[in-house]
Amino acid sequence: MSVHIRDYPGIPLKDRDIGEGRVLTTEWHVKAQYAWDTGAALSRFFRALKEGKIYGRWCPGCDRIVVPPRMFCEWCFRPTVRWVEVCDTGRVNTFSVSYVNWDASRSAVPRVPAVIELDGASPGMGIMHLLGEVGDTLEEILRRVKVGMPVRAVWKPPAERQGAITDILYFAPCRDEGATEPGGCGCGGAVGADRAAPTTSGTDACGCGGGEG
Ligand SMILES: [Zn+2]
Repeated sequence: MSVHIRDYPGIPLKDRDIGEGRVLTTEWHVKAQYAWDTGAALSRFFRALKEGKIYGRWCPGCDRIVVPPRMFCEWCFRPTVRWVEVCDTGRVNTFSVSYVNWDASRSAVPRVPAVIELDGASPGMGIMHLLGEVGDTLEEILRRVKVGMPVRAVWKPPAERQGAITDILYFAPCRDEGATEPGGCGCGGAVGADRAAPTTSGTDACGCGGGEG
């Protein structure tokens, strides 16, 4: 409506008019039934999270291990052909300090969403998650969190996992922040409380089981 209109024609409807039955109303219940499927790649990805594992897919065309996994490569448009378990350790690719909750309300406590490049996946491949154990104030967070900082996943106890990305509570800084090799950070590599002991052979230095699943 334009600001030039001063008089609006018609009679405005009030809640009272509906409540007191002065106008004709009808009630209609929508039968919207639908299901959402996560698809082959993400289904296995989420199922593995329940076991404390993170899976990617390998593309033979560009020799990349992509995480989160997808059944086709968005670079060369060919199917990915192999499941690869990657580590639950990695590095901070980028991060932000947020005072906004998921429901868009304001948070008094800052949260630190970050993109984590996972060890064992191709460079630039990672997942969006939260950083934890990095302080409660903006100053503390900015002092502690750096791009490239090694981090490890902090998992929910196995009995509480649901096959969701929230089975990882957050990523925490590795104890030895001077580490340069995956799994060499002293955090125990990808080995969670319910995981087997790490191995250090070949490219599997992080102890995640390396290779294909
Ligand atoms: Zn590819």
